[in-house]
Amino acid sequence: MNVFAWIETAAGAAESSSWEALGAAKSIADALGVDTAAIIFGENSAAIAADAGKFGAASALICDDEAMQPYRLETYAALLSKLVDAHMPAAVVSVATGRGRELLASAAADSESGLIAEVIDLRVENGSIIGTRPAYAGKVLMEMSSHTPTTFVTVRGRAFPPPPFEAAAEPSIESVPPSIIDAALELQIDDLSAEIGAINLADAAIVVSGGRGMANNPITAPADLSGEEANIWRAKQGFAKTLQPLADVLGAAIGASRAAVDAGFIPYEHQVGQTGKVVTPDLYIACGISGAIQHQAGMRGSKVIVAINKDAEAPIFKLARYGIVGDLYQVVPALTEALRARLS
Ligand SMILES: Cc1cc2nc3c(=O)[nH]c(=O)nc-3n(C[C@H](O)[C@H](O)[C@H](O)COP(=O)(O)OP(=O)(O)OC[C@H]3O[C@@H](n4cnc5c(N)ncnc54)[C@H](O)[C@@H]3O)c2cc1C
Repeated sequence: MNVFAWIETAAGAAESSSWEALGAAKSIADALGVDTAAIIFGENSAAIAADAGKFGAASALICDDEAMQPYRLETYAALLSKLVDAHMPAAVVSVATGRGRELLASAAADSESGLIAEVIDLRVENGSIIGTRPAYAGKVLMEMSSHTPTTFVTVRGRAFPPPPFEAAAEPSIESVPPSIIDAALELQIDDLSAEIGAINLADAAIVVSGGRGMANNPITAPADLSGEEANIWRAKQGFAKTLQPLADVLGAAIGASRAAVDAGFIPYEHQVGQTGKVVTPDLYIACGISGAIQHQAGMRGSKVIVAINKDAEAPIFKLARYGIVGDLYQVVPALTEALRARLS
């Protein structure tokens, strides 16, 4: 028996947050007195397995068959559940990324196991794995466990530290065949495009977010735009020319409220909140966001919250450690310049 950690990869490299999954898996494995095995599928698996060993995996099960390149839920879930049935690990751990959530839910269903999702803390009590997760917009903490032999666990990004890196460690690596071969697949992927250079919101140490207030950009919209179109244009300019420079200076990712997303100011991938991403950065700067409970559900775990809002009564100020009452289109450029001078 051991504990599996799924190492998410993209274009032949491990996603850095995957080492957090290994850290969480190791905490369970250490409490149970067993080893951790990294599960790595896709291109370059052997090299990634060697890195997983340095992050504390005693072994790795890899599959770099072309059926596993690129990621597809059907091939990955089929092989993961097959490996679970064969090895009966105590737990399978992944970070709760989009892929981690769907893969573990699917493989857990296939192997008739329980899943505890989005945990921020894990402990082992009398051999049972107990996960803690915030509920009701973070107002209560609930504990979950599963009574199946294997517990699938997704952990929130940045909730668990990666294990220490030991350059000399070498894992034992076993290569396994795919469960479904490429020719048998219904879904073929012809091309993948990625947003180059974008910082992953869920992993970011600093997030700068904009809300509906982004539309109150004082610049003049092109003459052929009016009404809502002009509003969207002004808000988009605000994200690109006012928030992005602040994010660049801080090395931050860009987030948004649902109001900004619904209004078409910025794509859904940036939405923070109950129906968007949950982020737990060291620093969260909310600009022109009122702080509705559904937005708070996605960011209240941030270590330091800074709110910039022209309404001193906005609920976000109750949550913020630092509040600036003012027009974001005056405050953000001034803050960006001050930080640029300070950090350069
Ligand atoms: C089921 C459900 C799920 C939801 N999920 C989410 C979710 O995932 N994420 C989410 O964010 N919301 C979510 N919502 C919506 C949520 O209830 C709020 O409507 C939304 O968060 C409001 O976004 P906002 O703060 O940007 O807009 P508003 O509430 O309109 O606030 C805009 C703020 O900008 C300020 N402002 C305006 N101009 C300026 C300026 N120039 N400078 C400074 N400040 C300015 C205003 O004072 C105001 O406080 C959900 C709602 C429901 C019902």
